[in-house]
Amino acid sequence: MAEVLVYVDHVDGAVRKPTLELLTLARRIGEPVAVALGSGAAATAQTLAEHGAVKVLTHEASEYADYLVVPKVDALQAAVAAVSPAAVLVPSSAEGKEVAARLALRIGSGIITDAVDLEAGDEGPVATQSVFAASFTTKSRISKGTPVITVKPNSAAVEAAPAAGAVEALEVSFSEKATGTKITGRTPRESTGRPELTEAAIVVSGGRGVNGAENFAIIEALADSLGAAVGASRAAVDAGWYPHTNQVGQTGKSVSPQLYIASGISGAIQHRAGMQTSKTIVAINKDPEAPIFELVDYGVVGDLFDVVPQLTDEVKTRKG
Ligand code: FAD
Repeated sequence: MAEVLVYVDHVDGAVRKPTLELLTLARRIGEPVAVALGSGAAATAQTLAEHGAVKVLTHEASEYADYLVVPKVDALQAAVAAVSPAAVLVPSSAEGKEVAARLALRIGSGIITDAVDLEAGDEGPVATQSVFAASFTTKSRISKGTPVITVKPNSAAVEAAPAAGAVEALEVSFSEKATGTKITGRTPRESTGRPELTEAAIVVSGGRGVNGAENFAIIEALADSLGAAVGASRAAVDAGWYPHTNQVGQTGKSVSPQLYIASGISGAIQHRAGMQTSKTIVAINKDPEAPIFELVDYGVVGDLFDVVPQLTDEVKTRKG
């Protein structure tokens, strides 16, 4: 069976959820071989094995933390040479997309970014993408070289699938360009304790209808009752009510959670572009004609200041 390389996104050995989702998709195409780089790479092996990795290629070197993405591209290129995989899957983070694009260029392959699904095809993996502000769904396959595909978070379930997960050291010799751009400092973002917006299984978003920065507390309360991330429309961000890092949409972040709750958001095309691939969409809006109701699975016509706190209380009661 063909092997499929999965690029591991981890923090000091703790594997992030989008990588485990990639393992689920990789198993549809072949046998997943994970590539874990940097500090804690070997510590990822157990989790990766529990989710289907037949092999874990590791390489620990300070270059991965000290320089921008080129050392990672060098390592993935070495892994491609060693394994001759049927495909290379990379999480669709900002860094993942840069690594994938550079890798595709290096190995002369085609690339598909931001896939939301993946299946085996007669002539190679077939990726599903949501394009043109989510107006179309396309299916495509790479016809040149080893397919390099980035996949959006929440595109597949995390599945337990015990496999050998044998750890093997990857031989990497860094290119001249690897040390070209040094990282001179890192400023960690202040933690809210909430999940990362693009990776969260549930997102609760507020728009202009929230009517003030202080009122976002009710959006946050619902989010916290559900263990969700908080999103915002551009109108709310432009008004200074919520940070731009939380903006969902064409000029913000693209999210694809299991559940997206839009409160006081009209559903403009630019907002939809960032959330339309959510699995279940719920909207709370006092205007029954609001365009958001065209795409929802469940719609509540009502004042968010009545509905959202009731929903929060109900969630808390049910959770006990
Ligand atoms: P509005 O459109 O004003 O809608 C507010 C809604 O709240 C209304 O439907 C109203 O009925 C409802 N409401 C009001 N009070 C209540 C209440 N008490 N209870 C319940 N409902 C209530 N937008 C984005 O979101 N993300 C982007 O990334 C983005 N990028 C853009 C890029 C470009 C180039 C352009 C031109 C625009 C972009 N926009 C983006 C802006 C977009 O066109 C809309 O203006 C914006 O999404 C509107 O935000 P909103 O839905 O919060 O506000």
